[in-house]
Amino acid sequence: VGARRVTEALLADGRELVYFDEREGVDRIVHDTRRLDSPPPPSVVRHDPLLDEWVAIAGHRQGRTYLPLADECPLCPSVAGRQTEIPSTDYDVVAFENRFPAFAGVDSGASAGLPGEDLLVEQPGTGRCEVVCYSSKHDAAFSALPSSRVLTVIEAWVNRTTALSRLPGVEQVFCFENRGLEIGVTLQHAHGQIYGYPYLTSRTRRMLNSAARYLERTGRDLFADILAAEIKAETRIVARSGAWTAFVPFAARWPLEVHLYPDRQVRELGDLTMLERAELAEILPAILRRMEALYGGSVPYIAAWHQAPVRVSRDLAYLHMEIMSPRRAPGRLKFLAGSESAMDAWINDVSPETAASALRAIPG
Ligand SMILES: [Zn+2]
Repeated sequence: VGARRVTEALLADGRELVYFDEREGVDRIVHDTRRLDSPPPPSVVRHDPLLDEWVAIAGHRQGRTYLPLADECPLCPSVAGRQTEIPSTDYDVVAFENRFPAFAGVDSGASAGLPGEDLLVEQPGTGRCEVVCYSSKHDAAFSALPSSRVLTVIEAWVNRTTALSRLPGVEQVFCFENRGLEIGVTLQHAHGQIYGYPYLTSRTRRMLNSAARYLERTGRDLFADILAAEIKAETRIVARSGAWTAFVPFAARWPLEVHLYPDRQVRELGDLTMLERAELAEILPAILRRMEALYGGSVPYIAAWHQAPVRVSRDLAYLHMEIMSPRRAPGRLKFLAGSESAMDAWINDVSPETAASALRAIPG
C-alpha cells in the first residue's frame, strides 16, 4: 500500500481543504471560484464552574445547512453549473474546514486560563473543526468502504491530527463520525469530523486521572489492564485480529457499545504500524457491519477516537475507539432522559454480555 497523494487547496473564504488521493496523476482543482460570504463570527467558550467544564457557544451554527436534498449536497463533488465545498469533479477522501465551526481561528495567547475569583469566564472559541468526506459517492457508508479506502481515511486522520496538533492553543484532537438521522446528522453524505479543542475535554480528563491514580496504586497501565481483563473474561469479546480487540465494555452505557483497542499501547493514530493500520482497515468496517446486521439494516452510531492530548498526560493515554449506538431493538431507540441527562447516571437495558454474544454470532 503506497502513501496517498496529498494536495492542499484553499476555499473561497480562506478555509483550508486537503485532498487525499489513491492514484498518481489525478489533477485536483485547488482554486475555489465561488463567491462566499465572509466566515461567521467566532464562537466563545464559557466555563461552567459547577462542573468545571467548558461549553462552546456558537450561535451561528443555527444557520447551518440542514438535511439538503441529494442534488444540493455540499459534500458531493462539484459539477458543471453547481459548485460545492469540494472544487474538483471527483475525489477519493477530502478534509476541509467546516463552514459553520464550533471552534475556529488561532489562539492569540490572550487567554490566561482561569482567573481565581471570576465565576463568569469566557474565552474565544479558538481551535479547528474539519469535515472528512470518505467518498465522492453521496450514499456511501463507512461500513461498506473497501479496506484500501479505509486506509486512505486513516491517512487523512493521521495527517489532520498532526496538523491540528500544531495549531497554537489546540489541546486535544478528536476524530469521530456521527452516523444516522437519529444521532442528529445534518448532512447525509458519508463523512466524519475532526475537532481540535482549545481545552482538554472533561471525559478525557477523567479517564486520564483514573489512569494516573491506577498507575500510582499498581505501577501498571489502566487501559492495558482493562483490555487484558476483557480478553481473559472472553464473554464480552466481539472480534479479534492479530493486532486489535473489539469488546463490549463491562459497564457499557449504551444498548449497543463496542470498544476497539490495539493490543499494543500506542498514543495516537500516527503511531500505528502499517500492519496495524491494515488490520484496522478490515476490522473497523466489519464491526460496523455486525452492528448494522444486528437489527437488520442501518444503525445510528457515534464512532469516537480517543487519542493522547497534545501536551499533557501523553504517557498515560492509550489510543482506542469507542462506538456507541442508541439502538436497543428494531425501531426502538434509547433516549438520554432524566437519569442520564440530568444526573450522568446511566441505565442500560441491554446486558453487555447479551449484546456481545449477539454481535459475535453475526458472521464477520
Ligand atoms: Zn453528497
